[in-house]
Amino acid sequence: MNKVILASGNVGKLRELQEILIGLPFELVPQPKTVEYEVEETGTTFIENAIIKARHASALSGLPVIADDSGLVIESLNGEPGIKTARYAGVGCSPQDNMDLILKKLKPFDEKEQRKATFVCALVYMRNADDPLPVVAVGQWHGAITREKHGDEGFGYDPVFWDFEHNMTAAQMPKDLKTKLSHRGKACRKLEKKLSRLWDK
Ligand code: IMP
Repeated sequence: MNKVILASGNVGKLRELQEILIGLPFELVPQPKTVEYEVEETGTTFIENAIIKARHASALSGLPVIADDSGLVIESLNGEPGIKTARYAGVGCSPQDNMDLILKKLKPFDEKEQRKATFVCALVYMRNADDPLPVVAVGQWHGAITREKHGDEGFGYDPVFWDFEHNMTAAQMPKDLKTKLSHRGKACRKLEKKLSRLWDK
């Protein structure tokens, strides 16, 4: 079976995508864990950065690639942390540092409206490094930033991301519910639909 590379070293992401893309006629494999696969994310949008990662991995491997970029967008902070979500509090910072910085910056904002936040996941599929028409799928999850951390599940900003429909943070949710609601789950399912159409033709 043909191989498609996932431009990520994250085992959780690989499993989630493998499960959703199972019906498609390729095997999704992780990129090699070597330093040359690391690339500077110089884009200013999630989509650009996902394309940069996919193009780089495809140039190195000679194979089609799926890559992702994700993060948190907060309107009251002019879209921050945005593409800097992973390293918002500085290089080498922990998820706790990142959440603490967001809680501090949002302190002056009392109203729910002012604490609105959106998780975004951009997924791209590139047939080769020069592909002029990458397949792009974007998923969004709208919620708000809490005043304190709640819950121990998940990762990253989950303890401060409130879902209004279920009245809990992402870190208080069972994994299945988070996959159903999350930006990444939505982007994966959209990508699956778009890729299915490619192979149907
Ligand atoms: P990456 O694109 O996977 O590197 O994600 C960028 C950063 O966004 C991560 O380091 C997390 O801090 C944050 N992030 C992305 N998705 C989630 C999520 O589902 N929950 C919490 N934080 C997330």
